[in-house]
Amino acid sequence: MVTYRSILKKAFEEPLTREEALFLFKKINSYDRLMELLKVASKVRDNEVGRKVKLMGFIASITPCTVDPPCRYCFRWSNPKLFTWEDVLSDEELKAAMETVESKGLRRVELGGGTFLGEEGRKTTLRKAEIACKASRKVSVWINNGPSYKPEDVYELKKIGVEGIACNFETTSKSKYRRLRPGLNLKARMEIVEETEKADLGIDNTLMIGLGDWHTVKKPYREWVDFLFYFAKFSNLRIMEIHPFRPIRNSPVQKMPSGSEFETVKAIAIARLIYRSIDISGAQSILGLLAGANLIMHVYPITKSFRAWGKHPMYSSRVERVFGNIVVVDNFYEVTRNAREMGFEIEF
Ligand code: SF4
Repeated sequence: MVTYRSILKKAFEEPLTREEALFLFKKINSYDRLMELLKVASKVRDNEVGRKVKLMGFIASITPCTVDPPCRYCFRWSNPKLFTWEDVLSDEELKAAMETVESKGLRRVELGGGTFLGEEGRKTTLRKAEIACKASRKVSVWINNGPSYKPEDVYELKKIGVEGIACNFETTSKSKYRRLRPGLNLKARMEIVEETEKADLGIDNTLMIGLGDWHTVKKPYREWVDFLFYFAKFSNLRIMEIHPFRPIRNSPVQKMPSGSEFETVKAIAIARLIYRSIDISGAQSILGLLAGANLIMHVYPITKSFRAWGKHPMYSSRVERVFGNIVVVDNFYEVTRNAREMGFEIEF
């Protein structure tokens, strides 16, 4: 008879099937069972990628967002300056930001931005990607700006020297997508990911736990499994980010509850048992590390100074000016502390 224990035992050696992943989502429903899941997931991480944590830098924004109406859970609701031209780094600022990332020793960085629709969005993305890639040959560049470009542009991005693309879905439920991201089209994002695979560029995507499930106690396990297995057909899947929904201040969903921490940890662990050797984010927290995460995103974030990170009270004493109105937040100590204290090697 198949039990969660028999699946976990098999998962030491072999990736989970879709049915097994669904079974685990349903059956890991207590403290004791969670501990059993975490033990297997962290062991698989240790065996497959080692007891190492990778770091990803962050620079934003490279493009404004022109999506109208804005996605219902977007940060744009909390601060109207976000993802406007005021938030976008000039070419000189981007170059200086890349040099700073390199000087901090980081070897990979994500360039974030909004979805800048139309021809201008395409041109801006390609120009910014080129500036970033030329500014540092040591730092690999990942692009995460909606898709402010067409599927065929991924080949141009590759030529420029980009390492990978994050064209985040957050959910693969078409109805949720329409409800929560009414100005966007899930199919267009899927086409970008498919073309990214063909271009042999790295794929990064994000699953948001608890998005749109506010009025039901029933967990959308099948939807999460569908999300995780949607990417099984891509050999270039390199990064999976999993985090809970967070209600953004002033947004239409600000009164909705945050996503479940328990389900997020389960999803990270189950993702590790499916995708054995990819990078999985969440390694800044002890729970993430226990669940098999090995990647910390947003290390040394570089943005315009008005951005939330620049004003975060915890890091305010370590906000350094980079160039013009651009700042870097030295969050290295905090975000790597758990991993270092637990004996992980930090891989820049
Ligand atoms: S595409 Fe991104 S930046 Fe633009 S509204 Fe949606 S979540 Fe916000």
